[in-house]
Amino acid sequence: MTDHASSGQTDRGLECSPQTSAYRALMARIDRAARQAGRLGADIRLLAVSKGQPAAAIEALCRLGQRDFGESYLQEALPKIARFGDKGLVWHFIGPMQTNKCRDIAAHFDWIHSLDRAAHADRLDRRRPAHLPPLQVCLQVKLSLEPRKSGVDPDQLLTLARHVDGLPRLRLRGLMAIPEASQDPAVQRAAYARLMALFCALRAAGHDLDTLSMGMSDDLEAAILEGSTLIRVGRALFGGREIG
Ligand SMILES: *Cc1c(COP(=O)(O)O)cnc(C)c1O
Repeated sequence: MTDHASSGQTDRGLECSPQTSAYRALMARIDRAARQAGRLGADIRLLAVSKGQPAAAIEALCRLGQRDFGESYLQEALPKIARFGDKGLVWHFIGPMQTNKCRDIAAHFDWIHSLDRAAHADRLDRRRPAHLPPLQVCLQVKLSLEPRKSGVDPDQLLTLARHVDGLPRLRLRGLMAIPEASQDPAVQRAAYARLMALFCALRAAGHDLDTLSMGMSDDLEAAILEGSTLIRVGRALFGGREIG
């Protein structure tokens, strides 16, 4: 552990903790990209992806005012959610979906970004506890033709959106995608432009969507230029992680 990291453990040292400087640097990146796009940085919601990170790192970001946190693995996420239960945080499930995860996701998360099939939607709807507001949903779209990737095929998207809109305990908010990694900003932007086009098509079909979940540590500028409303950032905020 470096001197900086250990000083971040105390209130007094928080000003120079690694999370503080990474957070400020990220805010500056968001503002710069937003300005270039003729948008306001404040209009882009930041989801801090805390998978693989210890509770202390979440705590440090909480103190900086961060509220939205994303996790990919249930067994890692559930103890964290319980630990911060009284802090008013908003928890987003962004990991791979499986039928046997639906109950815990419905019971413990506020959002899911990785829904890609009607059977899981039905299960989440049935399992969402009555005392909670509807589960907020982004549909994950498959942007490339690679067969193993999760996500709904673009030509099935409208059907799935209609289905989810008909479920009372789910609230369809928008779309999410994880494009194939590329260092080329033009390639990054082209993928996100495709997601934006699908988003516009769904809205034109009458779906009341407000969330375009796109952009990560290495391509958030491209995503913001293409109209992202929510970026999911892990490494640029927390540094490296042990898993995922
Ligand atoms: C891990 C992950 C992220 C964050 O990726 P970084 O490159 O660390 O910013 C975003 N979205 C999803 C779906 C992820 O699994």
